[in-house]
Amino acid sequence: MKLPDVDYIRPKTLKEALDLLSAHGDDAKLIAGGQSLMPMLAFRLLAPKILIDLAGLSELRGIEITESGVRLGARTTWHDIERHPSLKSAHPLLAAAIGHVAHYQIRNRGTAGGSLAHCDPVAEFPTLVVTCGAEVVVAGQDGERVIPAADFVLGPMTTALAADEIIVQIRFPAWPQARRWGFEEFARRRGDFAMAAAAVFYDLDGDQRALDPHVGIIGDADGARRLTDVEDLLAGQRITRSLLTEARALAERSTTPSEDIHAPAPYRRALIGTMVERALAASAGISLSKAVA
Ligand SMILES: Cc1cc2nc3c(=O)[nH]c(=O)nc-3n(C[C@H](O)[C@H](O)[C@H](O)COP(=O)(O)OP(=O)(O)OC[C@H]3O[C@@H](n4cnc5c(N)ncnc54)[C@H](O)[C@@H]3O)c2cc1C
Repeated sequence: MKLPDVDYIRPKTLKEALDLLSAHGDDAKLIAGGQSLMPMLAFRLLAPKILIDLAGLSELRGIEITESGVRLGARTTWHDIERHPSLKSAHPLLAAAIGHVAHYQIRNRGTAGGSLAHCDPVAEFPTLVVTCGAEVVVAGQDGERVIPAADFVLGPMTTALAADEIIVQIRFPAWPQARRWGFEEFARRRGDFAMAAAAVFYDLDGDQRALDPHVGIIGDADGARRLTDVEDLLAGQRITRSLLTEARALAERSTTPSEDIHAPAPYRRALIGTMVERALAASAGISLSKAVA
């Protein structure tokens, strides 16, 4: 389908973009990589009168790694993340999860800010942001505000972003090098949207017990979220084969999966449990295949 008629403008500064957004109200829509927005326009799911392209705002693109963590400019693309020389060691979970996003051409254009604003329940980035307890920096007419991920991601396709605000940065807390982590995803083909996925991480105390475990999933009807009861199960425990089995069963019970043309809910529930178990196994270096044999 062809796009509807729409005006297009490419501001040169963030202030100009914010002024345009504020002046045009509901008639305006921001565009970053266009990888979610353009299909929505083509399918007439949206009909803005003006597109405000963020492509001229170079200050919104870039990756900063400091002692306090990783900061992604909202216009940072998946490809920028993939080719960054030290992101993989600075935040291996982020790098691994982003490796599953889409295909080559889409990765060249799709942006972190666009993915978070769109908040597709089967996209990798919103789950990463929620699981890691990142902060989202947004700019509006009154300046910037910093929103914790749990308050920003409100549900599928729903965020705390106001209509006249622009995401400028996503800040991930520092990643200790000894941290244990795992990311597992099931998709029909690599690069397709996930049918289910799990991201886990925790630190170990001197007794090899899990400290402050984080478990996030993709595939739940509520969108990106953490499985707090699985986290409670793991906290203070050694990650053993039998604990993995318990975690898998609890993940299945704690999940209300989405049902769509790709999978009925019970199938997706089982997949989420499997992804949690596999991600935990990877984090602890436990081979599931050996255990089964
Ligand atoms: C065939 C295909 C397969 C895909 N597979 C995957 C996948 O497996 N996993 C995955 O995660 N994604 C996937 N995507 C989506 C892709 O990752 C996009 O990068 C992502 O949706 C973000 O799009 P974008 O940056 O192009 O934003 P756009 O499409 O330009 O914008 C998306 C939304 O975000 C808003 N927006 C954009 N930037 C900002 C900002 N800075 N502040 C506020 N609002 C903003 C826009 O107004 C719009 O509402 C796929 C897309 C396609 C077309």
